[in-house]
Amino acid sequence: MSAPNKSYDPVEVETLKPEEIERMRDEALAAFAAADSLDALHEAKVAQTGPTSPLALANREIGALPPHAKAEAGKRVGQARGAVNKALAARQVELEAERDARVLVEEAVDVTLPYDRVPSGARHPLTTMMERVADVFVAMGYEVAEGPEAEAEWFNFDALNFLPDHPARQMQDTFFVQGPEGTDESGSGVVLRTHTSPVQARALLDRELPVYIVCPGRVFRTDELDATHTPVFHQIELLAVDEGLTMADLKGTLDHMVQALFGEDMKTRLRPNYFPFTEPSAEMDMLCYVCKGESIGNPDRPCRTCSSEGWIELGGCGMVNPRVLTACGVDPEKYSGFAFGFGIERMLMFRHNVEDMRDMVEGDVRFTRPFGMEI
Ligand SMILES: [Zn+2]
Repeated sequence: MSAPNKSYDPVEVETLKPEEIERMRDEALAAFAAADSLDALHEAKVAQTGPTSPLALANREIGALPPHAKAEAGKRVGQARGAVNKALAARQVELEAERDARVLVEEAVDVTLPYDRVPSGARHPLTTMMERVADVFVAMGYEVAEGPEAEAEWFNFDALNFLPDHPARQMQDTFFVQGPEGTDESGSGVVLRTHTSPVQARALLDRELPVYIVCPGRVFRTDELDATHTPVFHQIELLAVDEGLTMADLKGTLDHMVQALFGEDMKTRLRPNYFPFTEPSAEMDMLCYVCKGESIGNPDRPCRTCSSEGWIELGGCGMVNPRVLTACGVDPEKYSGFAFGFGIERMLMFRHNVEDMRDMVEGDVRFTRPFGMEI
């Protein structure tokens, strides 16, 4: 070594002696080896390689050395730091592997343990079915409309062409909530709606024409609960009122609906019928989605779903009676419309082979579960 120059400080440069650098290196290696967790290793890393660590401080002293000593000291410190960083990385890998192995054991799930948690709930298949049907129409631009379940008698009957002495009123077994006297000034009694059709009248009165709505909802009739009847059930109703609508539009809409719900090769057929609020009126059947009509007159291929009739009765439909349009303030000379409705319970029964309606109202999850956890 040459004689010290002016900037040479023998005290500080003490830290750059080979044995001192070695000591710092060994101290760092020992600290890493002693770290028994990733947290401890992190602390050791800060202490041994951070900006205030002995080796970092020593590194800073190199600048104070005379030129010829710089290279040698720099090499020494660099080698020591290299060894320290290598040891740190190796220990890091070791500790991470240990942690991963521990986590695998500690957080292992025994998939053979009995499943004893409370199962999560699901929506009732009737709700799911109603939404699925409504979605078909929403996709075509229809809006979902709703009305009250306790409905004015006027909306439930009068507006729909059920005159007070009309025999058709007897077609539906009504729950009367309040008689016409003592109710609001309209003079109309209140009933639990016997069908979702009053929503049609409400929509025509409330909305601007044209009207394209679909109304799913609960309806009520005085039936006893048995395998095929329930006093509370669900319908979905559709109404389209626009200029120039015809029976062909109705038929096309019905075909599209059954194709969307049951498959592309489905179709519907109409049979003449009578409803007060449509004229002409029809009963609508859809092709049996199981046998596709091949069971008709074919004893070798009987079909349980349609009793080998090839068709399944779905509900009622027709062109909106001009009297209904007039009652709702729509000019029947300018506008026409079609409507249809059907029972959701019935569709659930034949679509999923549900044999007893009581299963749908009892709220037993063992009934609901096979329909899946659709939300
Ligand atoms: Zn069939």
